[in-house]
Amino acid sequence: MAAHYEGLEKRTGAPYYGKKAEKVCDCAECLAFKRDRETGRLRLYQAYFCKVRLCPMCAWRRSLKIAYHNKLIVEEANRQYKPAWIFLTLTVKNVEGDDLKQTISDMMKGFNRLMKYKKVDSAVRGYFRALEITKNHEENTYHPHFHVLIPVRTNYFGKNYINQKEWTSLWKRAMKLDYTPIVHVQRVKGKKGIDAEAIEKEVRKEMEEQKAILEISKYPVKDTDVIRGNEVTEENLDTVYYLDDALNARRLIGYGGILKEIHKELNLTDAEDGDLVRIEEDEDEVANETFEVMAHWHVGIKNYIIN
Ligand SMILES: [Zn+2]
Repeated sequence: MAAHYEGLEKRTGAPYYGKKAEKVCDCAECLAFKRDRETGRLRLYQAYFCKVRLCPMCAWRRSLKIAYHNKLIVEEANRQYKPAWIFLTLTVKNVEGDDLKQTISDMMKGFNRLMKYKKVDSAVRGYFRALEITKNHEENTYHPHFHVLIPVRTNYFGKNYINQKEWTSLWKRAMKLDYTPIVHVQRVKGKKGIDAEAIEKEVRKEMEEQKAILEISKYPVKDTDVIRGNEVTEENLDTVYYLDDALNARRLIGYGGILKEIHKELNLTDAEDGDLVRIEEDEDEVANETFEVMAHWHVGIKNYIIN
């Protein structure tokens, strides 16, 4: 990624890209771990993370943090509200690089409109929304789409039900599209008529089975998803150019309704711009995972020396 930013500096002459190259290059150069006396596990305790949107290291740290936050939030929502959950995928047609930034802006506005529709508002209790962008290399186009995790009201599967066709036409209206967009909706199944604890267990099991939280929490852009091969090609430079422009200083995840309230109640930090060293309270588990992944990070390119 640093090499691509360097390439963009050469191409455009803009020092902006050179600075980003430097930042990404320095990201996580030095990592300090502390060993937990009780468990004997290592815990990351000091590091510099560059926080550049497209930095693979930072994207991975953010994903861990978002996944951990979402796990806490979903558990708490289940405790307080015992909602049913649905997943919504909202898409638009693939766009050219030059239209990516504007399309994402339109989608953000469209999403807010969608959530305010009376029909939607009286069916859902909140949302977690994540923007993801994939690339179609054959057509050289970009595919921005939203993954949305929604706790629905108890009457959702009764009189307030919104079927796939209706979700599609609501999204079409919210986006003011002249074509019918592709919309997926899927229920996270929990069994009816069992006690609260069993429902929670069931929901959690379902979530785990589908790896739903992890899936939805992965940070929007992985360089390996969009950059092809290790070479700094013209196509790869274009990709970095368009993604950098479209995603710079933009919020890619968002919470609404009860999920937003719970995020606040739990005092969770900002996963997008906050500290990427400490990943909240569950440090043992995550840090151990951290260490394992770190040890394999950049194999053959860069070795971390652990004292
Ligand atoms: Zn970084």
